[in-house]
Order: sequence, then structure tokens, then C-alpha cells
Amino acid sequence: MAKAVGIDLGTTNSVIAVMEGGEPVVLVNAEGNRTTPSVVAFKGDQRLVGQVAKRQAVLNPKGTLFEIKRFIGRTWDEIKHEAERAPYEVVRGDDGGVRFVVEGKQYTPEEISAMVLRKLAEDAGERLGEKVTKAVITVPAYFNNAQREATQNAGRIAGLEVLRIVNEPTAAALAYGLEKKGNETVLVFDLGGGTFDVSVLEVGDGVFEVRSTSGDTHLGGSDMDYAIVQWLADEFQKEYSVDLRKDKQALQRLLEAAEKAKIELSSLPETTISLPFIAMDPGSNAPLYLDTKLTRAKFEELIAPLLQRVRGPLEQALKDAKLSASDIDEVILVGGSTRVPAVKAIVKEILGKEPNQSVNPDEVVALGAAVQAGVLTGTVDDIVLLDVTPLSLGVETKGGVFTKLIDRNTTVPVRKTEVFSTASNNQTGVEVVVLQGERAMASQNKLLGRFQLEGIPPMPAGMPQIEITYDLDANGILHVTAKEKSTGKEASITIQNTTTLSEEEVERMVKDAQAHAEEDRKARELAEAKNQLDGVRLQAQKALDDAEGATDEQKKDLQAAVEQAQKAVDEETDKGRLETLARELAEKLQLFQANTQPQGGQAPEGEAQAASDAGDDDVIDADFKPAG
Ligand code: AMP
Repeated sequence: MAKAVGIDLGTTNSVIAVMEGGEPVVLVNAEGNRTTPSVVAFKGDQRLVGQVAKRQAVLNPKGTLFEIKRFIGRTWDEIKHEAERAPYEVVRGDDGGVRFVVEGKQYTPEEISAMVLRKLAEDAGERLGEKVTKAVITVPAYFNNAQREATQNAGRIAGLEVLRIVNEPTAAALAYGLEKKGNETVLVFDLGGGTFDVSVLEVGDGVFEVRSTSGDTHLGGSDMDYAIVQWLADEFQKEYSVDLRKDKQALQRLLEAAEKAKIELSSLPETTISLPFIAMDPGSNAPLYLDTKLTRAKFEELIAPLLQRVRGPLEQALKDAKLSASDIDEVILVGGSTRVPAVKAIVKEILGKEPNQSVNPDEVVALGAAVQAGVLTGTVDDIVLLDVTPLSLGVETKGGVFTKLIDRNTTVPVRKTEVFSTASNNQTGVEVVVLQGERAMASQNKLLGRFQLEGIPPMPAGMPQIEITYDLDANGILHVTAKEKSTGKEASITIQNTTTLSEEEVERMVKDAQAHAEEDRKARELAEAKNQLDGVRLQAQKALDDAEGATDEQKKDLQAAVEQAQKAVDEETDKGRLETLARELAEKLQLFQANTQPQGGQAPEGEAQAASDAGDDDVIDADFKPAG
């Protein structure tokens, strides 16, 4: 079988690796480097990828595309604030997606990522002496379906068969796990160029299980670069009254100088930033120079607010894994930015443990991806890879309640089935509303998709048994099926390439859910009380409709209570009052049945069944179509 590679398609840099002699090794690119900048540039007919593209960025700011990973699989609305920050042109595509415009030509993030992937694969093919056609590609743990799909498509555009999309921290642990034996709890701290991910994993006996993930999509080495740029530009403006940020070319040069200084400060106590001819003096038109010293202490002061932002996700990941810092056996550093001494220091301070640095932080993800590629092609045995879902998945049920089928941080692949029923009598169709999020009410969560299941035979509310199955595959792609059990009628949806959550939204939603926990509980309890009252109301209405022999006098009391219940379901906001009404209505119903069914007040079998079904199964509140 042809060799399969592992690719870390990074925000700033990418790395490609392969299994050789039972060990994962990094393949150097055509320039002889182990990492390839994820940068693509256009210059007339020329297309440049990697280091050559990065190097000319300063002269070609509008034609050099970098950090495209921030845009992949996202909609224009999600990224427009970031688009403003880019020195190149980012516009809204006709489909609401993202387009880069260079020299009048539009490109999708997938196409640009594919160019990076193709260079990596072609260079690797040269090294291996055979064409590379199969790959495992890594993505941040928080990537949603659309982002994963888009990454997979980028691979396809590059002519690769994408064997699997794997989470970066998981890949890192996979590379690390090869050298380790026994059971360990590992925390992967991944601070790259543009994103921050924390994952807690159980590693042992060839099994890697992700217990929890958390992170921040907008925290990384480039934020440190921007912090330096802001400082440089502020100082320059103070001295010369020229804002360098307004000149795209100057900004690009500042960014490059800032990154270089930052990297130097990882091993030196101070460095000099020197940028000749950075601007013109507006008065004299004389060239202006930027020449300044940056100490590590000053740098640490500039990035201190950024460093503090690792705390929240770290604490969240531990909390979600139900662990405390002392339960972590090993801390693995991933990503170039973990080379910053202050980053290592804060990790040590928060976790009370010296982080493990035995695995090269720039390469570890690609190495792990190569191991996974080996597993999938049969070169590596005895390793099972388990991953988790970052947000809960569920369905909207009666009263706008969000009913979870798959909890946040559940190991994938996972398949969950639950039985639901209808909200109204003779309801022949239900709408399945697929949602993602942590809030109790459907409207507060993210809509992933919706579909109709039609052709349910007319039955009393609560009788039909509708089996809903959520099938989340190892790539994080969700298939939802709804099946009416008596007829076997089925409908389904696959959630992919849809407008789903940005990583930023994931973080916001998890935080939101915590902030609104109390309010959500109340809203849910209110919805449940309404559902309960409405259920009794339906039974009472049916009893009234069916009681042919009953006199108006006998019906009057129950009729009034049914109307009162209907009004309360629509308007009442007091949970206690709803519960009282439900109890009273149930009593009146019982009395009515006793008076009108002299054989002992038993409801017909079907009704009793319906009532008990309604109690067991959540009810899908749909834009139902009445029988007709
Ligand atoms: P990655 O996404 O893992 O390739 O990380 C890239 C980020 O790491 C970029 O922001 C680089 O500037 C940063 N980086 C790489 N090497 C170093 C270093 N020695 N010290 C500080 N930052 C570094």
C-alpha cells in the first residue's frame, strides 16, 4: 500500500510527516526546512507557496495570503471583523462565504489551503520517491463541522484522499504516547500562531481518550506580534506623529520585525528592532527610521494580558474532565508559541508542574498525524483513537426545550437513539430541529439543520413512536435520522458544509450557558410545566370529544377548565400556577370520566397508553400538519 502522510495544516506553519521504520519522521520541504509557512502569494502569473511567499510579503502585502485557516469553513458574517485586520482583501462571496481577492481574481479559503497542502505533498513525494496520495490532516479541537468539511475539501482539491481529520491535541498525544507506556492523564497545551487549545486526555495501553477540550480561537503567537507592533507604532507615533498602521507595507514590515524580535527573545534577554525607511516625515519629506531596543521584560509586560487569557480555558478543561491540576500526570507543550519562556512559566504556575518538552512543539502534531495515518493504513497496530465532541447535540422538543442526545465531551464516534412522540392529536408530520449548544432552551442554541418526517398515521398525541438517531462520525460530521416505528418511514439529514459555529461561538456558548444557568433552569421548568398542563388538556379535550353520551351540564365544568388551561399554556408565566392548574384539570378529568363511564372510570386502552407514552417520550413540537 502507498504510504500515507500526516499533515499539520497550521495557521502559520505546516508540517508533513510519515512513518518510517515504525517511527514518525518529519519530511523536509524543497527548501530543506522542516516547517513550511502556510502562506500563498500571487504576483502576475506567478504563484508562490511557503517560505518564498512569506519572504516577499513585505513587497506584496495585497497579494500575500496568510493565516487563511482563520477563514476556512466560516461565513462572511462570522469573520468580517477579522477581515478588516488582514492586509489583503477579503470579501463576501455570493454564497455568503469568504473570498480572497488578488489582482481581481477570487479564491476560496479551501483553494488557498489546497495550494499549501499540494506543496507539502509534492515536496514530500520528492523525498519519498513516490507520489503522496493519502493523508491524515489535523484541525483544532474546536473546529466545527463546516470547518472540518472545508479542510477535507482542501485536501481533495490538492489531490489527496483524506483518510481522517484528527484534532491537533489528540495527534500530539498520539505522537507522545508512542514513547510512553502505562495509564496517564495528559494535558495538551497548544499555543500556535493563531489559536489556543487545551485538551485533557487519558493515555494508556494504546488507547487515547480525550476527556475534555477547551480553548480560545483568537489567541496565539500573532497576537504577541500584534502587541509588539502596537507598542512600536505607538512609540513611533509619539515621536514622529505618523501612524505606521495606516500604511499596509509598513504594517507588514512591522509584523515581520515583531515576530523576529519575539523569537529572539525566547533565547536572548534583549533584542534590537531596526527598520530603515519605514515612513516619510510629513513635514520635511525626509525618510524616517525605526530603531529601538526591546527587552524580554518589556515584551513580557506587553503580552501579560494575552498570557492571562490561557487561565480560563485551562480551568474549563480541568473542570469538564472533573479533575484538578494535581490529577494531571503530564503536561505536553505544542505549538511554536510555547517556546516563549513566559508561556512555559504560566503553564507551570497554573498547573504546578514542569511541562514536558521532550517532543518538539512545532512537529509533534504532524508526527501524531503520521502515526494515525499509519494506524489507518495498517502500518501501526494496537492503537485506538478516541475523540470527543466539543458541544452538546440535540433536538428541539415541545415548548422550545432543547433535549440533548449527545452530551458535550462525549467520545466520538458515537451513536445515540431516543424515542420521541407527537404533540398533537392526528399529527401526521414532525419537524426535527437539530441543534448544538449548552443552553436549556432551543432558541438559545445554534441551529444546525432541520427536516420533516411525514406520513405518520393519525394517532392520538403521544402515541406515535418516533425514533431519532444521532450518529456523529470520527470526523465530527453528524447524521440525523428520524423513523416512525409503526410504518418504518424514515427521513434524515447530514450536517456538513452548513453555516455552523465558529470556534469563537463555541466558546461564547459554553460561557453563556454557565452565565445563564439559573435563568435557563427556570425557563425549562416553565416549559415543562406548560407541557404537562397541555398534555392533560389534550387528554381532557379528547375525553370531551369522545364522550358522546355526556350532557352539556356534565361537560360544562371540564370544558371551562380546558379553556382555562389553554389560556394558561399560552400566557401563564408562573410555574406553580401551571402545576396547580394541571392538578385541578386532572382531578376534573377523572371526575368527568367517573361520571360518564359508569363501568369504573377506566379510560379506553389506547388513551391510557397515549397518556403513559406522553409521559415517557419527549414530544417534538413541530409545525405539524393536521390529518386531512
Ligand atoms: P505554530 O502554529 O505551532 O507553527 O506556531 C507558530 C507560532 O510560533 C508563530 O507565531 C511563531 O512566531 C511562534 N514561534 C515559533 N518559534 C518561536 C520561538 N522560538 N519563540 C517564540 N515564538 C515562536
